[in-house]
Amino acid sequence: LVSARGLQKSFGDRQVMKNVDFDMLVGDITVIIGKSGSGKSTLLRALAGLTEPDDGRIMFDGEVVFEDQKRTPMWQEVDSYIGMIFQSYTLWPHMDVAKNLVLAPMKKLGLGKDEAMERAKKSLAEVGMSQHLHSRPAQLSGGERQRAAIARALMMSPKLLLCDEITSALDPPVAAEVLGVLRRLKEEEGIAVALVTHDMAFASKAADRLVFFHEGEIAVNTTPDEAFNRSDNPELKKFVDAVR
Ligand code: ATP
Ligand code: MG
Repeated sequence: LVSARGLQKSFGDRQVMKNVDFDMLVGDITVIIGKSGSGKSTLLRALAGLTEPDDGRIMFDGEVVFEDQKRTPMWQEVDSYIGMIFQSYTLWPHMDVAKNLVLAPMKKLGLGKDEAMERAKKSLAEVGMSQHLHSRPAQLSGGERQRAAIARALMMSPKLLLCDEITSALDPPVAAEVLGVLRRLKEEEGIAVALVTHDMAFASKAADRLVFFHEGEIAVNTTPDEAFNRSDNPELKKFVDAVR
């Protein structure tokens, strides 16, 4: 589904991605962990098209979307297949949930209002939020807000969801609920998920791949079982002990 090769990115003289190779298969959940500042968000932002890498190549569904320091015309084609969700500020506070959801598909896919509303109802149902169609973000709990944010991403029929610490501000049971939604989307819709999280329980239970970032490089990329039980990477061990 995704194949990135040799991604590099610097801010000033600070190298944030040194030489990142990253692959994702259709329907896989990849959990990305690593210390603050190690480059996790930069990778997700690069895949979402929010940051331009300085070098490297990104392929999506076999098509080159980024090469020679720029996006290719194919980028337009795949852009809507990728949804990104952040820790906070994901919904417009002055609009109700329905309006938040229909905005992008009406503008980007040219859907009519009725069609977009139908889709909004379906997306909300998928995350168990049907009763909140006309709630405002301020009336929702943190977990509900993140589920609404997932529903908004679903409006574009993504193949890939990029989630950057979307449960970090939530209590463990609420976080587990939101992560459960992602797991179901993978199982029922075959949506691939790349998720930055500190939730090691979810990582070991639900992830197909575990990626450990260290100082701008992917230091470990394997199954969670291998990573947590058999890895001899000292930095990974230190990190896991610190967050457990
Ligand atoms: P965290 O766990 O704290 O979210 P992270 O692994 O997601 O960390 P990144 O956000 O990828 O880390 O940032 C990596 C480094 O790049 C950090 O040192 C950060 O300060 C720097 N950085 C990121 N974005 C920018 C920017 N737009 N301008 C300057 N420096 C940046
Ligand atoms: Mg980050």
